Amino acid sequence: MEVLRVGDVRVHHVEEWQGNFPMPPSAFFQGYDEATFRAIVPDLTPAYYRDDADCLYAFLQSWVLQVDGLTVLYDTGAGNAKERPGIPLFGGLETPFLDRLAAAGFGPRDIDVVVCSHLHIDHVGWNTHLHEGRWLPTFPNARYLFSAIERDYWDPRGPGPRPTPGGAHVNTNVFEDSVQPLLDAGVATLVDGGHRVSESITLELGPGHTPGHLIMDVRSRGESALFVGDILHHPVQVHRPDWNSPFCEDQEQARRTRRRVLELAAEREALLVPAHFGGEHCCRVRRDADTFVPIFQGGHA
Ligand SMILES: [Zn+2]
Repeated sequence: MEVLRVGDVRVHHVEEWQGNFPMPPSAFFQGYDEATFRAIVPDLTPAYYRDDADCLYAFLQSWVLQVDGLTVLYDTGAGNAKERPGIPLFGGLETPFLDRLAAAGFGPRDIDVVVCSHLHIDHVGWNTHLHEGRWLPTFPNARYLFSAIERDYWDPRGPGPRPTPGGAHVNTNVFEDSVQPLLDAGVATLVDGGHRVSESITLELGPGHTPGHLIMDVRSRGESALFVGDILHHPVQVHRPDWNSPFCEDQEQARRTRRRVLELAAEREALLVPAHFGGEHCCRVRRDADTFVPIFQGGHA
């Protein structure tokens, strides 16, 4: 199912998981105030918020781009059969993600490039799959791209700097089973900001949520899309760019980057594609005084 077009680029959505994320918004958002959230709840329910459980509603999802002769997979979810004491909700999953990828028209061998926005638990899972007791790359013909800064940070044997204690707990086992096997197989390419994947795709650094978080900047025939991973998790952060998630490693830098990305999206009238949006999974944004407002097309998925 082809869902989006950005100039000549065809963009396919592949769902891994959807459900209640078991945290009330008051605990999830750093800087939360009830009145602001309640004012926009009608716009958020049910795609982004479930009142009955007072919790956020979220997706794990990937995007496949057909661009410049390449098939590019952006982010790989939580993966199947992983031990995840840091967020048990994402452990031991058995989702039909590869079947859904096939339904979108792509087998594992068709993927030329995998881009990991960052190396958190819910963005690298399908990098590997379990084969005879070993974690092996899922996409055998792909180069896997992520930032060198991110590798240095999350690799327990890397040069650091080290994650926060909370960040290290959330990411327990993740580097070992979903990143190290790529390094061992020689299929990882460590990149810096400004890395050109192809004529239409550039990877830029957007640090804060994690220090080497990548933004995938797609431009084709005057149209633009910004795949921004976890720079924001939820539409309320378009209204309130100062509200961080509890998983942002550097709180102040995360706020600065979120605002910069929203400014860029508004200026360019770009499609903004965050990692966990429900509904139609993406939006455009417009300025509203000193903040921003999300613009959805309607037609929630
Ligand atoms: Zn995430």
